[in-house]
Amino acid sequence: MDSRLGRRTFLAGSAAAAVVAFDPAGLGWVTEADASATQPGAVGVPHLDGELVVDEESLAEAADDYGHLVHRRPVAVLRPGSVRDVVRMVQYAGEHGLKVAMRGQGHSTFGQAQAGGGVVIDSRTLATIHRIDQDRAVVDAGVQWLDLVRATVAEGLTPPVNTDYLGLSVGGTLSVGGIGGASSHHGMQVDNVLELEVVTGSGRHLRCSPTVRPALFRSVLGGLGQFAIIVRAAVRLVPAESTARVYNLYYPDLASMTAAQRTALADRRFSYLEGQLIPAEGGWRYMLEGVEYHTPPEVPDDAALLAGLDPASTEIVDMPYFDWLNRIYALVEDLKPLRLPGPWINVFVPDAATDAYVADVLADLTPADAGGVVLLYPVPRELLTLPFVTVPDSEVIFLLAILRAVDPPNEADVQRLLGVNRDLYDQVRAVGGTHYPVGAIPLTPADWRAHYGDRYPRFALAKATYDPRHVLAPGQGIFE
Ligand SMILES: Cc1cc2nc3c(=O)[nH]c(=O)nc-3n(C[C@H](O)[C@H](O)[C@H](O)COP(=O)(O)OP(=O)(O)OC[C@H]3O[C@@H](n4cnc5c(N)ncnc54)[C@H](O)[C@@H]3O)c2cc1C
Repeated sequence: MDSRLGRRTFLAGSAAAAVVAFDPAGLGWVTEADASATQPGAVGVPHLDGELVVDEESLAEAADDYGHLVHRRPVAVLRPGSVRDVVRMVQYAGEHGLKVAMRGQGHSTFGQAQAGGGVVIDSRTLATIHRIDQDRAVVDAGVQWLDLVRATVAEGLTPPVNTDYLGLSVGGTLSVGGIGGASSHHGMQVDNVLELEVVTGSGRHLRCSPTVRPALFRSVLGGLGQFAIIVRAAVRLVPAESTARVYNLYYPDLASMTAAQRTALADRRFSYLEGQLIPAEGGWRYMLEGVEYHTPPEVPDDAALLAGLDPASTEIVDMPYFDWLNRIYALVEDLKPLRLPGPWINVFVPDAATDAYVADVLADLTPADAGGVVLLYPVPRELLTLPFVTVPDSEVIFLLAILRAVDPPNEADVQRLLGVNRDLYDQVRAVGGTHYPVGAIPLTPADWRAHYGDRYPRFALAKATYDPRHVLAPGQGIFE
């Protein structure tokens, strides 16, 4: 229990006790249940269309995430009933020295969406798809990509880039980047946004786009929640093909797989390009995963797509486009109840260093430590347009993602793997790499300054401009 909490908070005891006032002196909330005992000095909570709750279950959920590694308890959870609620809570928090974190689906792995001693805003109650037009969808930040993709595909449309798992919120992936196999054509999800509505750390509700307040727009996308809460987004849509032809190409070693990926990327021959390193007896299997989207009777030209890729073996399968995009959802949902600790590491490696770096990583990586999935795939740097999405200075960058799950849960292994992640991070930095900030790497504010490098002054200036009281997203640990 957070020792700074006032006794009154817990007097409520019952589920979803509504909060009516805040006691800045005792840093505790006054609930309806004990409002009769309201002490002088308690400050009334502004009228809310939704609810501010302090029950045990809500606080515990907000103090956890997909990684189950970090647990920082907030003092309350806001389930907003409107954008106005977000504005009011951010303003209120700023006035009373509270921190605020928007939480989407809580699929971070290292406390990024938590706010110890602060207020977590649960975006799941702001989840309306407002419009689907030919070129865009206008959605609340709490909408899950799964719901958006299902709705757009029904209209023959699709977001150009999707993450491998669709159970993430729009606001959550637009705060980090949102990378996937179609990033080889379209950059990240943040590179495919037309307009945002945000609530800044100062509590201002603003629209922004590439032409309206462009500095705010470009800061918020991939800005790790530091400058503003995204409440609504207009995301780009393109025509959807009906079918995905999936080519799994297997290679005997890492170098031949990455060579084939480079060849495929050079002429952008697949609609989707990823790759996996799969634990196998005595080592690893190397699989290039290429997908060509099409609508029969048009069919992909297999020979042209495979020319020069020289795999040792090939599997080809067709499936409906939506089923392809949603292929791992059920698997992830089945895993969740196991609550396995997930010390993930996701790094971007410059092309020239990729083979040597990944070979070193694999030399020490046991199947147990890999946990589940290891991804490796290239993306062209020129398609990544946002200033705070920090990637290596290289024409092509590779994402290496080790999506570990410690099974059975074991604290000693978790601590050891966090140490390994830190070592791998230091090693990738030494070869000009960066980290993709969705994993579990112990980092200091000095590491973050190094992460942003010559863009750090710009990052700090944006913080001072939009969130001068440092209200937002403390769980990222970027500032002192
Ligand atoms: C199974 C799985 C598969 C994944 N696959 C991919 C993948 O293929 N590609 C990829 O790029 N990523 C992937 N991720 C990582 C994922 O994109 C990020 O962790 C993302 O931030 C999670 O979205 P969320 O809604 O759960 O956000 P949360 O974890 O709830 O929040 C993440 C951060 O964003 C902030 N935030 C959340 N909502 C908002 C908002 N509306 N406005 C401002 N800030 C906000 C939070 O405060 C926090 O700092 C995967 C994660 C999991 C668990």
